[in-house]
Amino acid sequence: MLKPGDTIGILGGGQLARMMALAAAPLGLKCHIFAPEGDNPAFDVAAARTIASYEDVAALETFARSVSVVTYEFENVPARTAEILSALVEVLPNPRALETTQDRYIEKSFIRDLGLAVPDFVPVDSLESLTAAVAQLGRPSVLKTRRFGYDGKGQAMIKSETDLADAWSVIGQSPAILEQFIPFEREVSVVAARNTVGAVVTYDVAENRHTHHILAETTLPAHISAETERAAKEAASRIGAALAYVGVFAVEFFVVGSGENEQLLVNEIAPRVHNSGHWTLGGAETSQFEQHIRAIASWPLGSAKRLGRIEMRNLIGADSDQWLDFVTEPGLHVHLYGKAENRAGRKMGHLTRVLP
Ligand code: AMP
Repeated sequence: MLKPGDTIGILGGGQLARMMALAAAPLGLKCHIFAPEGDNPAFDVAAARTIASYEDVAALETFARSVSVVTYEFENVPARTAEILSALVEVLPNPRALETTQDRYIEKSFIRDLGLAVPDFVPVDSLESLTAAVAQLGRPSVLKTRRFGYDGKGQAMIKSETDLADAWSVIGQSPAILEQFIPFEREVSVVAARNTVGAVVTYDVAENRHTHHILAETTLPAHISAETERAAKEAASRIGAALAYVGVFAVEFFVVGSGENEQLLVNEIAPRVHNSGHWTLGGAETSQFEQHIRAIASWPLGSAKRLGRIEMRNLIGADSDQWLDFVTEPGLHVHLYGKAENRAGRKMGHLTRVLP
């Protein structure tokens, strides 16, 4: 169990690491950020920093010896990095969560084997197997690289007119899965935390709207039945237990059908704090960031109670230029990530309104 004054190591220097470090401070815990050269907004708010590549063994070993536990803000932590660190210090969530979620085929198979519904999927490793997969699943369908896809990158829609050789080139001829296209009613997610003694808390289900594959808005409560809300939380608890997970994670779902026929399909698991949980800063009794720190410190989890109706909006690219208007609005929770460069499509901050 960590004690106030101890130091948490975080791999990654972006906004998620920044918000984790900000949440650790009131609990008396320090953070040491390990990230490669670049725009690392977490450095501004951390007690210590290491600038090195994730392959730098000497730097990883020194880092591991300087902290009480290591966590991460992104799922693409190289397996070798996790292995080097694990030999010297506890890495939480455990590296099994990384192995399972880094590869869409392994991830979807794991979820299906738990008895949870997922869109039909088939592995693809060549143009021939893509052709066979499309014959099996039909069109439209979605081709996704097994690894390193995020925010819609590494994906190609297979429509009626799509040439399969083109689609195969679009995703770089990388190992992939073909997935059934789901004409969903809405997209929702559950953010959950699980601690070292297996206690689980789940936040209420969030409804997410994407623009150009990037999360634009999250609102709560989600427009789903009480039964679907319960099923989503139950699915998250099962996934957490099956991974012996410690920390915060998110499960994203497609909602299909309505009324009696409303049903959830799991889209993916994020083994980290998640953008659809940013509303918990100000909108819940304990933020997802504090919850993650509590979990990996082996502390009791906090209350996930929601404090009102929620509207969270991401500030993408030039949206954040309006910062003076935002800080002028009474009661608005404004979070600006302090990134040095404002590029189109880049997450620069977020706003949360908590409504009665
Ligand atoms: P992903 O990277 O798998 O989360 O996909 C990014 C976004 O693409 C999702 O949030 C959906 O909006 C859309 N998408 C992904 N897979 C499917 C699917 N099988 N059917 C319909 N839309 C999808």
